[in-house]
Amino acid sequence: MRMTQCYTRERQVAIDAVLQACSLARRMQGTLEALDIVNKEDLSPVTITDFSCQALINMHLAKAFPEDEIMGEEDALFLRDPSNKLIKAKVVEQIEHLFPHIQESSILDAIDRGGSPGGPNRRFWVLDPIDGTKGFIRNDQYAVALALIEDGKVVLGVLGCPRLEMKGHTPGGIFSAVKGHGATLLYLDSKKETAVHVRHGKMPDGVIYCEPHKSSSSHNHPAAFKIANFLKAHPEPFQLDSQCKYAVVAKGDAAIYLRIPISNSYREKIWDHAPGKIIVEEAGGQVSDLHGKPFDFSRGKTLSDNFGLLVTNKELHEKALEAVRHVLF
Ligand code: AMP
Ligand code: MG
Repeated sequence: MRMTQCYTRERQVAIDAVLQACSLARRMQGTLEALDIVNKEDLSPVTITDFSCQALINMHLAKAFPEDEIMGEEDALFLRDPSNKLIKAKVVEQIEHLFPHIQESSILDAIDRGGSPGGPNRRFWVLDPIDGTKGFIRNDQYAVALALIEDGKVVLGVLGCPRLEMKGHTPGGIFSAVKGHGATLLYLDSKKETAVHVRHGKMPDGVIYCEPHKSSSSHNHPAAFKIANFLKAHPEPFQLDSQCKYAVVAKGDAAIYLRIPISNSYREKIWDHAPGKIIVEEAGGQVSDLHGKPFDFSRGKTLSDNFGLLVTNKELHEKALEAVRHVLF
């Protein structure tokens, strides 16, 4: 039998980087002013926290793995524009706080280290520094999401969920998974680590599903409700921003996560799924698109060959696909 690689050093570097980014994001959440939030071309928001966390994590990765490519959601083009110097100064201030002698140009270059186009036959990191920026701005759920992809396959995923509820603990944890080695949760309060598993078996009150936050305009909530109804699921879903939804399935608090794009032409970005997918799979669950097709991470920045998302505890997958076909196709 071929032994799977452990990625011990990659995992530790990724966890340390995500931990530091989570502390930074926690300190900054709730302090943002109107100037600190800007709309990107696709009209999704980006904040000084997104830029700061991308700089921080890329600095960690560049130091530990100088040869590795990184695909980050953000770039520094906006910050390099002289008319945005006030917002740039705020990002620089956050990083200088942690690295007092760092040069401004090194911070911008660190953000721009995230320019890998991805694709097959290579090794690269994929980073969403603040996943669920809308939730972050709303003082709600968000995640710091980092994964390592080799030859089109996700081999390592780390997902920091600073506000996620944890039974018996104060909120916040870092989920991580290495291909073939299971998934774990590191509690932010005790720093104890435990294995996580999806929930199987009878769910007498109906299976709990999760989906994007009620304010999301890109997810078809009524269709998800019909699918849930077909499955006799619990009528009240968990609605939350970011890949925290994958974490909720991985730790067994829900057994289904549905993402139904309103637009037929939207293709999911790989940074919105890479860490979540490996964490759920290593926790015993299953991830596919709404046609049952596995995700293909070898096609650059998007999952161009996939549509929507279905995550389950595995035993419900076929039944959920049947419900999806019944309602959608
Ligand atoms: P969520 O937090 O689950 O609502 O997902 C937020 C993510 O959805 C963002 O990071 C975007 O990358 C992604 N997104 C943006 N526009 C769309 C769209 N039109 N359809 C589906 N997802 C989108
Ligand atoms: Mg983001």
